[in-house]
Amino acid sequence: MKKIVMKFGGTSVATGENIRRVANIVAGSVEKDRRVVVVVSALSGVTNQLVEEAEQAKKKDEKQIQEFTKNLVDKHMAVAAKAIMNAGIRKEVAQVIEKTVDELEKVLTGICYVGELTPQSKDYVMSFGERLSAPIVWGALRDLKLQTGCFTGKEAGIVTDANFGEARPLMNVTTHQVKMRLEPLIEKKVTPVVTGYIAATQDGVVTTLGRGGSDYTATILSVALAADEVWIWTDVDGIMTADPKIVPSAKMLPELSYGEAAEMAIFGAKAMHPSALEPVIEARIPVRIRNVFNPENHGTLIADGQEAKSAEVVKAVAMIRDVAMINLKGAAMVGAPGSYSKVFDVMGKNNINIMMVSTAVSEANISLVIRRSLLGRALSTLEIALLGRGLVNEITSEDDVCVIAAMGANMKGTLGVASRIFTAMAQKRINIRMIAQGSSELNISFVVKENDGEAAVRAIHKEFKLDQI
Ligand code: ASP
Ligand code: MG
Repeated sequence: MKKIVMKFGGTSVATGENIRRVANIVAGSVEKDRRVVVVVSALSGVTNQLVEEAEQAKKKDEKQIQEFTKNLVDKHMAVAAKAIMNAGIRKEVAQVIEKTVDELEKVLTGICYVGELTPQSKDYVMSFGERLSAPIVWGALRDLKLQTGCFTGKEAGIVTDANFGEARPLMNVTTHQVKMRLEPLIEKKVTPVVTGYIAATQDGVVTTLGRGGSDYTATILSVALAADEVWIWTDVDGIMTADPKIVPSAKMLPELSYGEAAEMAIFGAKAMHPSALEPVIEARIPVRIRNVFNPENHGTLIADGQEAKSAEVVKAVAMIRDVAMINLKGAAMVGAPGSYSKVFDVMGKNNINIMMVSTAVSEANISLVIRRSLLGRALSTLEIALLGRGLVNEITSEDDVCVIAAMGANMKGTLGVASRIFTAMAQKRINIRMIAQGSSELNISFVVKENDGEAAVRAIHKEFKLDQI
């Protein structure tokens, strides 16, 4: 018997019509010797609304809570009305929606009275998006006469640490519990519908796996249930060689290795949560990215050994916007052990993530790339902590830059890749501000002015003939 975990993203469940499409895909996939576990995201946009509302409630704005919850009920009821034909099932789902939103209203009111939003209560609020979408999908499956059951991540048995907002699964307990709870049902041909993104600590406190975390839920469940494949259903055909908005001739990549896919996820190929591949890499479970709106397409297959199949050196190129570069200069850093650690320490303690680092052997300067939104805070903390203390004497920054990343597993050990990339840049007269190549050799990343970013992507796409794969 084959087991497939299928995750459906926010757009796939955004409307009643889409949910019927999802239900038909699932119903068409459950066969005599094939079982499906369904993982769903919140309706598109709902998680964002929940964050905003939680922030608003914290400001003691009680009046708009009721307006918000009423809109939320209306939205989900309207979707359910289109997704579920059977009046009895629809009524049952409607009751679940009302009861769930009642609970949310109490939570928001609590936050409002206390005037405080802790990471723990924020996760609790953010869990409601999936708690509202999953019952509708469950109803739509019953509508198609499928045997099904609805579970939150916690009910399904997913246990995490207490790192609210970015919780990590405790795989041993999780595997044990998920097996115990879901396997007997799957054997009886029941199709479980599980809320993506949310889980709980060992004490049962609600946690979330980080934004976009429904992918992670799907891969966690696949490992726990020893599934044969994970299918991530989304609204694009698969992972592309470049953003088609920048390169209209960009192509879908039919196959990628885990390493390449992980690299692309980090570089914002948005197809996947960056941590979602961790569990399946070890378990060697293949992941397929597929398009709900084009199910005939087989999508991108992420699995073992795919790099060997391809002769391409560079497989994809991405542009990461919204970044800024900080340059620290100081002759005193030369030959001074521990000087870099001071810089990293300041950033770490202030919770500023460093995306890219580059230093030269002269040691007199160090360049960092961070999210642009953090630039102001990063500069002031660095200035306070380091300037005038004999180590760093100049801190400058550029906020009109972007990172270009060229990726591909076969870059490893291949000569001349960097020279081809940088020659292509020189031909376009694009100046390179900073370069880094991870020792994994899976990517070469460099910084250029944001204005040059799109031309840089197009030039690399062309140089490696990515439109011809
Ligand atoms: N609803 C969550 C989010 O928007 C999780 C997900 O969509 O995967 O981040
Ligand atoms: Mg989402």
